[in-house]
Amino acid sequence: MKIRVLGSAAGGGAPQWNCGCFNCREGRRPGGRVRPRTQESVAVSADGESWFLVNVSPEVRAQIESCRDLWPKAERHTPIAGILLTNGDLDHCLGLLSLRESQPLVVYATEAVRAGFTEDNVLYRTLERFPGQVTWRRLELGREQPLGGPASSLRVTAVPAPGKLPLHLEGRRQPSPEDNVGFVIRDARWKLTYLSGVAGPSPEVEETLRDAQVVFFDGTFWSSDELIVAGLGTRRAEEMAHWPIGGPGGSLGFLGRATKGSLSFYIHVNNTNPILHEDSPERQAIEAAGMKVAVDGMELDT
Ligand SMILES: [Zn+2]
Repeated sequence: MKIRVLGSAAGGGAPQWNCGCFNCREGRRPGGRVRPRTQESVAVSADGESWFLVNVSPEVRAQIESCRDLWPKAERHTPIAGILLTNGDLDHCLGLLSLRESQPLVVYATEAVRAGFTEDNVLYRTLERFPGQVTWRRLELGREQPLGGPASSLRVTAVPAPGKLPLHLEGRRQPSPEDNVGFVIRDARWKLTYLSGVAGPSPEVEETLRDAQVVFFDGTFWSSDELIVAGLGTRRAEEMAHWPIGGPGGSLGFLGRATKGSLSFYIHVNNTNPILHEDSPERQAIEAAGMKVAVDGMELDT
């Protein structure tokens, strides 16, 4: 399996366009101790020829250009064989609308995520300009299915993760366990567990981590009141369906136990999170627990 981290930040990226917090200032400073990061998206391939994007961020065009593996091999061509969506948050699916240049697309999503993106969305018509422009492949919770054709060696299972509806659909749809999922992606040798949005622990989440060689996990916030203390917001991490990393009951203690022996990364990291700063005590704490912070451009190959 080959893995390319195209983007590792939460919605807004780091630095965020309208933020001058400590991390964002440090991210803009030449030689600063915060590496700039685009919004979360990861590319996965079994053979290095056809690639699957996990989430498609508003920065997808620049992300594709940043990764040679995703460049076209002919006049009109893309190595991107499919796109998987973990949920309907705009930082995870808005990039679909940017991939509208008459290219057939295959999108893997639960029915709830598909409906939330396509229904009542007049902009989606840009992806309905010819029959078969988008082929939706329905992901059913807990059922393993091939990624790509029947001969593909990659298989994916969508796993329900504690979460919530995207902000723009709150009050418009009934919440469902299909609203927010993680993925287990396997080839003959590796098991990748991808959980970039997790509101808290669950037996399903714990089970997905068992025997995984590589783990990506929700690293949005260090603390529950991170935005409130910084004066940058009014909601706690849990209200935004993100499990804080630090403190008693934080994800770090859980992952330190559950991911023993795996290569484990925090991803979807908000620009306010102190783990982005390479010299912070919080960064040292996660490294001491055996975790790392994902960064754009990172490549993993078996
Ligand atoms: Zn900031």
